[in-house]
Amino acid sequence: MRILIVEDDELVADALKRGLGEAGFVVDRVGSAEQAEPALGTGEFDLAVVDIGLPQVDGLTLVRRLRRAGNTTPILILTARDGLADRVDALDLGADDYLVKPFELPEVAARCRALIRRTRSATSAELHVGPLSLDLASRTAVLSGSPLEVTPREWALLECLALDAGRVVRKERLLRAIGGWDDELTPNAIEVYVSRLRGKLGDAVAIRTVRGLGYRLDEPGV
Ligand code: CA
Repeated sequence: MRILIVEDDELVADALKRGLGEAGFVVDRVGSAEQAEPALGTGEFDLAVVDIGLPQVDGLTLVRRLRRAGNTTPILILTARDGLADRVDALDLGADDYLVKPFELPEVAARCRALIRRTRSATSAELHVGPLSLDLASRTAVLSGSPLEVTPREWALLECLALDAGRVVRKERLLRAIGGWDDELTPNAIEVYVSRLRGKLGDAVAIRTVRGLGYRLDEPGV
């Protein structure tokens, strides 16, 4: 799952990027609303963490602009302790949640997971596809009762497919789910990871190739 951090404060941004990265998210960062708007317009990100205090165009204006443009990316706002009016405004303008600075990284990660889940209409941290269970909070997978060992990238791919199980997930989206701006990945990388995952999943759950489009995770017998 991919997150864009919109924060001009280097220290806060670095801490967020590190913390969310350790929690398993693919994280990119911009320092201004002007940079955030086109990045979020591509639909590559599953969530944006937006600080209200940004140079020039502030976070509230960014939220308003995004929502007016029809952008539905979930937004978690960061506000100062005394920013009650800002928090109310942010939610009214279309932000989905907020956190007050200083925040604890595990809470930021949990809120991010909850918001992304909500938009994918998954109600709990556990996903089931046939005999495969994914725990999105602990990032562990169980297949037919046994732990499934996967690498971080294989996990990211499996999670992206499972969140949209039964539907085609485009190759470009999978590519963005496993690597951020700093990672150099070719479309062939997806084929490599899919093939490894297929080997691990065996016949229990199928990752089907939908020619020219992408991949679909199916339960057996579907
Ligand atoms: Ca700031």
